[in-house]
Amino acid sequence: NPVCLIVLGMAGSGKTTFVQRLTAYLHSKKAPPYVINLDPAVHEVPFPANIDIRDTVNYKEVMRQYGLGPNGGIVTSLNLFATRFDQVSSPFVRHHHHRGFGTHLFQAFETQCFAVFQASTFPCVVLYIMDTSRCVSPVTFMSNMLYACSILYKTRLPFIVVFNKTDIIDHTFAVEWMQDFEVFQDALNQETSYVSNLTRSMSLVLDEFYTSLRAVGVSAVTGSGLDQLFVQVEEAAKEYEREYRPEYERLR
Ligand code: GDP
Ligand code: MG
Repeated sequence: NPVCLIVLGMAGSGKTTFVQRLTAYLHSKKAPPYVINLDPAVHEVPFPANIDIRDTVNYKEVMRQYGLGPNGGIVTSLNLFATRFDQVSSPFVRHHHHRGFGTHLFQAFETQCFAVFQASTFPCVVLYIMDTSRCVSPVTFMSNMLYACSILYKTRLPFIVVFNKTDIIDHTFAVEWMQDFEVFQDALNQETSYVSNLTRSMSLVLDEFYTSLRAVGVSAVTGSGLDQLFVQVEEAAKEYEREYRPEYERLR
């Protein structure tokens, strides 16, 4: 059964490379994907996209017209795209109007775009791509996880952390940090001579958050780990049907 995968992550984490690899993988499995590019600022999309935000929204023009910098330009482009999603969406997404949806611009793209995905016919799962090689410092790891945490609470969708670039560095250390608070604290204490109470408290909050996460290591370059990823995707899709869909149906 089709599953809608939403690929997110910081710049440079490997989203584009990952989607390219994923697309090739799915074609090889005779399960061709339906791909939507939501990056308005990308120069080249190195995979066939069924829908491309750049066909609807001109990012540079948006920056100019609204007097925005790169980030504001991206968020506004996404908002504009989301308000036109009705017209651009194909039978892939069956759009149901939420109360007030489409009548005003939401502040953050995530809020609006996910409203669309939440109403979709297919189970939706967020894949949060992380650059494992940039997570070896416990402080960077934590800030990356805090970002993931904020996305999780905004999207309210099943969530998989994808540790990318495992061809450079194995991700087991990161999984260990997620599973064992003591190990993470030790690493934190080793790196910084002074760990503030705030840092400690935040890592405690994250410890809660980790229990609701799935994690898997992949390499977007070699394609390793994709089989394991799809095992997790299946599980997350079941979770969507079991726990998320009834909630969205109730809210509709
Ligand atoms: P995006 O900004 O999230 O779309 O990231 P890109 O897909 O553009 O990747 C950023 C950089 O990381 C590029 O130089 C990629 O070649 C590199 N990269 C992406 N995935 C991997 C990977 O799995 N392994 C390695 N070694 N490099 C990767
Ligand atoms: Mg990219």
